[in-house]
Amino acid sequence: MLEIKNLHVDLEGEDKTILKGVDLTVEAGKVHAIMGPNGSGKSTLSYVLSGRDGYRVTEGSATLDGKSLLDMETEERAAAGLFLAFQYPVEIPGVGNMTFLRTAVNAQRKARGQDEISASDFLKMVREKAKALEIDADMLKRPVNVGFSGGEKKRNEILQMAVLEPRMCILDETDSGLDVDAMKLVASGVNSLRDAGRGFLVITHYQRLLDHIVPDVVHIMSQGRIIKSGGPDLALEVEKNGYADLKAEVA
Ligand code: ADP
Ligand code: MG
Ligand code: MG
Repeated sequence: MLEIKNLHVDLEGEDKTILKGVDLTVEAGKVHAIMGPNGSGKSTLSYVLSGRDGYRVTEGSATLDGKSLLDMETEERAAAGLFLAFQYPVEIPGVGNMTFLRTAVNAQRKARGQDEISASDFLKMVREKAKALEIDADMLKRPVNVGFSGGEKKRNEILQMAVLEPRMCILDETDSGLDVDAMKLVASGVNSLRDAGRGFLVITHYQRLLDHIVPDVVHIMSQGRIIKSGGPDLALEVEKNGYADLKAEVA
């Protein structure tokens, strides 16, 4: 489903290569995790997949269901079924959460050549999903993420995910920031959305997130490459022995 082949990425305008040949396939129904030391290129991978400016792909490909993501605008990526969650969700003053969600759903529908969802159908759908995720109605009315606690932002992100029903979710939760409660929230949200038709790529610096989201496959990234892949045990091994041993072993 998500297929990344030999992906090489430079920093735009600089002679610096960050990703040096990433190969990764995430199948439908599977949760893949990427771990790795700071600065290894994990976030860069998620930024490039999201279409953020500032990076230049020099080689390789990234496709979702056979369609090249790298040629798409951000909205097209969302329409193709890609969802990206970052550690610090943006605050949008003046835009109510409901309005934001409905705009996102309709943008996705438009890009797919579908009609807009009716106001009543939308309301019904969001209320059902919010209820299932134990999100109170008050949060739906407030401006997007403004004044939300860390936990509320995470809850809101999971709601966005539930509403957009993506094929492929990429979560970059690196470099702390998440307290234990927020981590559990993300994990239970991800677990509730695990589905045979949906894949997840969970990027994390810490093994403990993977106690709650038990991945099918764990990849270790170092210096712009995936240096080792394995089962959930690989995350535990890294937690115990650190990355240095692994790097030495691979070298
Ligand atoms: P990780 O998420 O694994 O910690 P990053 O993808 O954030 O790694 O960073 C990989 C490398 O690229 C680091 O050396 C980082 O300093 C560098 N880098 C990434 N983005 C930028 C940028 N916009 N400007 C300068 N350096 C960058
Ligand atoms: Mg980092
Ligand atoms: Mg990072």
